[in-house]
Parts: sequence; C-alpha cells; structure tokens
Amino acid sequence: MKDRALRAIAECQRIAAMTEEPGRITRRFLTPPTHNVHAHLRARMEALGMEVYLDAAGNLRGLLHPEGASDKRLILGSHIDTVPDGGAFDGVLGVMLAIECVDLVRQNGLPLAVEVIAFSEEEGVRFGVPFLGSRAVAGRFDPALLALKDAEGVTLEGAIRAYGLDPTLIAGSAVDDDTLGFVEIHIEQGPVLEAENLKVAAVTGIVGQTRLTLEFAGQANHAGTTPMNLRRDALAGAAEWIAAVEKLAKRTEGLVATVGKIEASPNATNVVAGIALLTLDARHPHDAVRLGSVNELIEMANSIAERRSLAMQCTRPMDQPAVSMDERLTAYLADAIEAAGFPPKRMHSGAGHDAMVMASRMPTAMLFLRSPGGISHNPAEAVRTEDVEAALEVMSVFLQRVAGAVR
Ligand SMILES: [Zn+2]
Repeated sequence: MKDRALRAIAECQRIAAMTEEPGRITRRFLTPPTHNVHAHLRARMEALGMEVYLDAAGNLRGLLHPEGASDKRLILGSHIDTVPDGGAFDGVLGVMLAIECVDLVRQNGLPLAVEVIAFSEEEGVRFGVPFLGSRAVAGRFDPALLALKDAEGVTLEGAIRAYGLDPTLIAGSAVDDDTLGFVEIHIEQGPVLEAENLKVAAVTGIVGQTRLTLEFAGQANHAGTTPMNLRRDALAGAAEWIAAVEKLAKRTEGLVATVGKIEASPNATNVVAGIALLTLDARHPHDAVRLGSVNELIEMANSIAERRSLAMQCTRPMDQPAVSMDERLTAYLADAIEAAGFPPKRMHSGAGHDAMVMASRMPTAMLFLRSPGGISHNPAEAVRTEDVEAALEVMSVFLQRVAGAVR
C-alpha cells in the first residue's frame, strides 16, 4: 500500500501545479486549469478500463463495471476546486484515493461496480454558493443558480457554456437509483486526529451552522468629556457579548462559536464607539443544542444592550441543519477501520463537504485522514504517507466487504 500512498500524494502535487495563479494553488469552478485536471484524471481512469464522461455541471465521472458485478454501484469521490492559495490535498486527495480504490477492485478481482466522481465545485469561491457539483449529482441543482455572477460578471450559465458544456442538461446529471451509496475520503482539516494520535476516523455527521450579524448601537461621543457612567458605548457592549459567546461555547460540549469579525464606528481613538457590527458563526452536531445556544446568546445580547442603554438588532443570514451520515454505511466503514488494525474512531465534521449534499440522495459515509498541524485551506496543508496508506488499507477491507454484501 505504501507505493499506492506515495503515488496518490505525488498525483495531488502534480494537480496542484494546474492552477490559475503560478506559485499558488487556486482553481475555481471550471477555470482554464480545470481542463488540464480533467485531461489528467480522464487518462488515469481510462487506463483502468473505466468509462469516463463529463456531466453538464462539469463533474468528471468514471465508471468501472467489472464482469459479473451487479449494476448497483458504489460512488467514491471528492472535489477538485480549491480556495484561493489553498492546499494540494483538500478534495483532490479524495479523488486520487478513489482512483486507487478502483485499481484495488481490479487487482483483487472484486465483482463491484464503482463510479468515481471528481466534483467540479465545492468551495463556493467563484459564485459564492458552494457544492455546485454535488448538487447536480444529487438532483438538487436549482436552475435559478445559473444567473449567479462571478467577480468578473460572468454568469454561472456563461461559465458552463465557456467550458463547452450545456447547462440546460444539468438535470440529467442526477444519479439514477442503481447506487449502493457514496463514500468520500477527505483530510480532516482540523487538529482532532493529530491530538489523539490517530490516522483515520469514520465521520458520523456534519455539524449544523447558524450565522448571525449583530449591531449594537449607542451614542458616539467625546472620549475626554463623557463620564463613564453617562456613556452608551457600543463597542464595550459588543466586547461583553464576545466574552459571553466564548464562555457559553466552552461550557457547552461540542459547540464551537466564533465572533470572527467586528467593525466599530466611527473607529477613532478619542471617540466612544456609537456602533459595533459583529458576526457569529455557531456550529454543533445536534440542531437542538445549536439552536438553543444561539437563542441564549441572542437573549444575552438583548440583556447586555438593555443594561447599557444600547439598541440591538440581529439578522440571521444562515441556519443550516446538521447532516447525519448513514448509520449502516458508517458502521461498515468503522468496522473496516478496526479490521485494518486501527482504533475505530468516530467523529463529526466541523466543515461542510460534498458528502453533506450526497447524503440527501443516498446512503453516505466519510473517511477522515489526519491533517498534520490541523492546517487546511493553506499552502502548508499536508498529509503523512502512513496516514494515506492507512486510508487505503481501510478502503481495501471496506471494498471487499461491500463487494461481498452485494453479490
Ligand atoms: Zn474539501
């Protein structure tokens, strides 16, 4: 397996050079370097005897149908777009390992049909909306999205046409019912596995997420002449709330809550701030805990505002429910982890993935690999050969068991 792991890593590095910006890894949805990635992946898949095509949403799809295999196929894959100045392994490693899985199926003569999907878009960088590729495959692509524009004013429809595809055919990209399920292999993009000295984990679900924008409004006034007891300081109110957010998240198991942005107005050294605008990003694997915590935080903001004679307004631009992975498929994967000789660690994902969208259409599971330093969305993103090897060992057991079960 070590040779396979080294090959998968080398392939990720090779694809990293197919970028919009020399010296940085940036590959947004269907930008020119995507042609090179598709040509390379197509050649790899065709060499394995797969039937390959590009669907109307720009997803590259290859099918291996060994003789004697049932028509019910297992789908493996991840995305090939990146964030600006991203890493070499986010998404792409999942595609490369999917291709190695096909090679394992062939080498072991397993009667298992496998489809590999290199999703065209997951990060939402170019058009501000993520999961464009997996939405199409899951049959959840809203044609209204085609009117979205990128920073240069190109519509999503125009981008798809410029790539040589017909956006009116996107509905036809949806998968049929001849599927066993979808498995995505992905780097963890966080520090949990490293902290626990584990190589891989089965993902139980993807956290739900709420985003809030809050505005505390008081009275901008002279920093020298306004006594402390006569101030309506919006920034001090916001600061009190930020501390409360951290405190609540620390005492709520599984909750992560972040105030990542604040704007004070007039933002001057000698002026009491009249307005403070801030954001909240709160995530938890259970919707009830997330929603309850967010309500508690809004109540706290209200009571802080009242006590300080501030006005408080709150908008809620995002409320995304948690998504559970399929219990049966996840148990299969966790059993395979154990059978391959590793602790059957289960964990939730704090980040969104194509698996989240695919789960709405079919049984879905995810395998995480340790992220050295917990670093991702960064050129320093890396993987360890031994961890990639472990993922392949797990998948080898998993594929054998799935092949045995569908026979
Ligand atoms: Zn990713």
